[in-house]
Amino acid sequence: MNDAITSPLPTSPTSLCASPPTSLCAKSQSLEISSSLTPPAQDNSGSGLHVRNATVHYGTKVAVDNVSLDVLPGEIVALLGPSGCGKSSLLRAIVGLEPLASGSIAYDKADLAGVPVHKRGFGLLFQDGQLFPHRDVARNIAYGLEGGQMLKPERAARVAELLELVGLVGFERRAVATLSGGERQRVALARSLAPRPRLLLLDEPFSALDRALRERLAVEVRDILRATGTTAILVTHDHDEALTVADRIVLMNDARLTNPATHPMNREFVTSETFQKLQTSGSALPRSGRGDEISCCPHREQEG
Ligand code: ADP
Ligand code: MG
Repeated sequence: MNDAITSPLPTSPTSLCASPPTSLCAKSQSLEISSSLTPPAQDNSGSGLHVRNATVHYGTKVAVDNVSLDVLPGEIVALLGPSGCGKSSLLRAIVGLEPLASGSIAYDKADLAGVPVHKRGFGLLFQDGQLFPHRDVARNIAYGLEGGQMLKPERAARVAELLELVGLVGFERRAVATLSGGERQRVALARSLAPRPRLLLLDEPFSALDRALRERLAVEVRDILRATGTTAILVTHDHDEALTVADRIVLMNDARLTNPATHPMNREFVTSETFQKLQTSGSALPRSGRGDEISCCPHREQEG
């Protein structure tokens, strides 16, 4: 079973490049809010994350195509889409691991162009990788607190607080090799939260776990993110997971966001048969009958 890597300073940047493309992404269906229901104007000047017209290329491959996305402070947004559609690439760009071919990313009004990964104040919880095997649980959690201003007793108190938060009191001195997959993920989450990141980016953090554990952990993670007021983006291809964790769901397909990113997702639609079809076949979507907010139409230029 894979462990998660979490770190304010990623030890394995390439671990985000994971999912091979699938036939789903080769299709070009797009869900969009009908033009009669214009989403609220995007707030470029406010606090939080503001991605504008971001494009990421790998050679001639366009992995992220003109994407705009706002995440407000305290908000938990799920980025939902099939494997290979560009979710991890967008996350990598936000965190600073991938350069933008065009567009911009700002946080709290400050443009992040040229700001290195470790200065962005973002936390990462990747889909695979490992905790530091030579560090026990407490020292894994303390990793992001070292080398800063924090004194040792203060660090120990913060670690204790996080152990309690993720339900691992008493695990301080345990070697990570002795932990179950779910326990490792909790340690990974604690480690990413320890430095109080202003934005936490989670890339399919439950994908290595079995279904029952995934469901349980998704609920726990949601509760922890809410309790700590953490601003977060969860990348997932699992719509149940997105519904469990997120306040808002943004759909991605074929390198593009397919619903305007500032519009609250119609949660009923995500559970609908129509949406299931997109997830499983990528087949053409009929016009949505519910809510009027979402309709199917061919690709067109994204708003923003
Ligand atoms: P997702 O996370 O949605 O599964 P990715 O962002 O990992 O999608 O990948 C989007 C597309 O970009 C895929 O076609 C993938 O093969 C391609 N890709 C991802 N990383 C690289 C890379 N480092 N070099 C070339 N192509 C890449
Ligand atoms: Mg991915």
